[in-house]
Amino acid sequence: MAEDYYSLLGVARNATAAEIKAAYRKLAMKHHPDRNPGNKEAEEKFRRINSAYEALSDDKKRKLYDQYGEAGIRGGGAGGSGFEGFGQGADVNEVFGDLFENFFGGGGARGGGRRRGAHGADLKYEAQISLEDAFNGAQLPLSFSRAEACGTCRGTGAKPGTSAQRCAQCRGQGRVQFSQGFFSMSQTCPACAGEGQVVESPCKDCRGQGRTRREAELKVKIPPGIYDGATLRISGEGEAAPHGGQPGDLYVHVKVKPDPRFERHEDDLSVTAGVDVATAALGGTADVPTLDGEPVKVKVPAGVQGGATFRVREKGMPRLHGRGRGDLLVHVRVDVPRELNARQRELFEDLRKAFEAAHAAPGDSGVFGRLFGKD
Ligand SMILES: [Zn+2]
Ligand SMILES: [Zn+2]
Repeated sequence: MAEDYYSLLGVARNATAAEIKAAYRKLAMKHHPDRNPGNKEAEEKFRRINSAYEALSDDKKRKLYDQYGEAGIRGGGAGGSGFEGFGQGADVNEVFGDLFENFFGGGGARGGGRRRGAHGADLKYEAQISLEDAFNGAQLPLSFSRAEACGTCRGTGAKPGTSAQRCAQCRGQGRVQFSQGFFSMSQTCPACAGEGQVVESPCKDCRGQGRTRREAELKVKIPPGIYDGATLRISGEGEAAPHGGQPGDLYVHVKVKPDPRFERHEDDLSVTAGVDVATAALGGTADVPTLDGEPVKVKVPAGVQGGATFRVREKGMPRLHGRGRGDLLVHVRVDVPRELNARQRELFEDLRKAFEAAHAAPGDSGVFGRLFGKD
């Protein structure tokens, strides 16, 4: 028996709509086929999660499901023949829509769902950027090979002077209807492979395909504050569709290279700052590097110990979603000199004598004094 929709989403049977949506969103992100290319198990899981969400996000369907299980939902719908692409339900699209819009300020949004009919394949691109680029944002140049619309036939696939004909079998619809029992179902038209048209005299440059392979170059805007592992979707920059359909999308997977100086924790950065022994003992300031290029002066109190940490507000990474910046955490390293010049040696010798005298003096507050109650 198939797993229960509630346990599939990991929610209680009395979960609220918001809880269901949140659980779905999390799982759908994890198992989305774009994140698990070629993983059949993830694809199946994603399909099941979508079915569960479709049922439980709709009050009517949820009631049917609670009463009759999956059979109750299937009985009510027409067809159910083809699981076609991903995210076919309106709610599903909405969830993915706002997810991706975050990266594109709405410009790249296309409802989030897959189109039906012939369309170009999506492409994936792995981009490595430095922490500085993640901090400042960047225009990242990409070059890759992709199928583009053929210039000779302008993507139609038909020899110049001729044109593609409307497919007679589906009358240009790309899908054909048939009946099975009480249900009317539809499937992709076999005569035109869903394109709605057929090419009788093919263009010789693309052999009727309507597209040719080319080196594409484009610049992708990396928003400041982007994190390691983020994926940007560039709408319509994937492969051209056969015969002038809608192109696929380009997914840019961003990897942020580790930085030799700064470590990142969410939007905070941490850095190590060295102070000399005199400054550590007497107090003073330390020059601390930041990613803006301008070092900040951090006040160091007298007697600071190696490993002490200070927080400098708003000197970390810009926040990708929101205003302001994270903090800069400064770890103190006390630098003991490896070499001394004559003057420094003399001062350290005097310093040692002074320390020894302080230890030897009666009533001092050294460790022994406290332990044995000498005062
Ligand atoms: Zn052509
Ligand atoms: Zn057809």
